[in-house]
Amino acid sequence: MKTCPRCGQSGLHRVSLTALDNRVVYLCEECDSLWDTQDEIRDEAAYVDFTQYMQKNGITASWQQVKMLD
Ligand SMILES: [Zn+2]
Repeated sequence: MKTCPRCGQSGLHRVSLTALDNRVVYLCEECDSLWDTQDEIRDEAAYVDFTQYMQKNGITASWQQVKMLD
């Protein structure tokens, strides 16, 4: 687990989203910030809200769709 650039807490996970064909992103379990990147976070300010990200893809966000990779 890494430190989240947004909230500063150690809740940042590399995850796959089962509802989006196991797309790999970074997601903070503390503040629900999501970085749409597979490898590393290059732009710390380029986060979106997990709920909004899933809504944009037509899906109601749920942590049941999140599979932790590390
Ligand atoms: Zn956070």
